[in-house]
Amino acid sequence: MISILQACCSTRSSLNWLSVGLVCALLLAACSSPRDHTLDFLALGTEVSVSLYAVSEGQAEDASEQLQSYFARVGLDWYPWNPGELRAINIAIELQESADVSPRLAAVIRRAAQIERLSDNRFNAGLGRVTERWGLHALGDEPPRLPHSNEIAKLLAQAMGVASVRWIDDQIVGAPPGLMLDLGGIAKGAILEDSVQILQNLEINNAIINIGGDLTVIGDVNGRPANIGIRSPVEESAIASVDIVAGETVVTSGDYERFIEIDGKRYSHILNPRTGHPVEHTSAVTVIHTDAMLADAAATALMVGGSEEFEHLTKALELEFALLIDASGDLRLTPSMDLRLNWID
Ligand code: ADP
Ligand code: MG
Repeated sequence: MISILQACCSTRSSLNWLSVGLVCALLLAACSSPRDHTLDFLALGTEVSVSLYAVSEGQAEDASEQLQSYFARVGLDWYPWNPGELRAINIAIELQESADVSPRLAAVIRRAAQIERLSDNRFNAGLGRVTERWGLHALGDEPPRLPHSNEIAKLLAQAMGVASVRWIDDQIVGAPPGLMLDLGGIAKGAILEDSVQILQNLEINNAIINIGGDLTVIGDVNGRPANIGIRSPVEESAIASVDIVAGETVVTSGDYERFIEIDGKRYSHILNPRTGHPVEHTSAVTVIHTDAMLADAAATALMVGGSEEFEHLTKALELEFALLIDASGDLRLTPSMDLRLNWID
């Protein structure tokens, strides 16, 4: 904007002062009138894209600044392999000491514990050591090797989920020493929720926050619902599209998203808490819900449960809109999801 105004004002010798003033005022008004903005940045090891509809330059700048500093902070504090709050909590658990937890993180851990119970522990936010042993955490510097079944069994015995944590107010006062909290299966949902709050505090009422394909819609897109493509688990193209309305979150978990390769075989980053092995029977799951944390954690739980447990888990977690594609390409859908999706060929 500054460069446009300077260019405008430098032509004043050939125009009279009045018309220069008028042109500059019109340009200023055009520059500051609301328009659509897209903010793209890398955070949490993925691409974040935030679309803001009909906002001023100032709102877009504030949103960019506040979101990026929030993402940088939770990237440290909520990721157990970075130096931050969750790592400090895990160290305290290992040393069998108590740990103070900030209110927001305590709320996320408690929500994770509820979803563990509702999902019969298919969702388990205490699998950090097993994830680490498989080399599935992004910061692992040793090449992954196939773990021995005894090692996995030993780690699993203490990975009883965050529901096994004992609290006094917002202080963790006890947990199995081998429990390592890993909120990777729910954190994006919480981050989407917080991002909505940040944008709404800036009076941004129409936006899409997209964290690596998981997204929340605020308001609408110039008067229409956001039309979102659901990715095929086997290729880059979309298999279906769906209208996402204000306040809804759509989360997709897939075995193609993050994985490791050991001896030429791919292993998914989602672990079955009963076996300690990466899930192989499900290719992808999509959940739509107004509760972003539930959508995120439920997608992980459904990946673990597979087609066999799809009906039971969607009921137990009260999911109206869910889709599962199993490893052989067969689909499972809740009846409402079936009505809602527009299939592409
Ligand atoms: P993404 O992060 O790719 O969106 P998910 O939301 O499904 O995928 O979360 C996967 C992450 O959750 C893993 O990287 C790991 O940190 C953690 N995790 C793995 N297995 C489970 C599980 N059964 N329950 C809860 N969290 C899990
Ligand atoms: Mg998840």
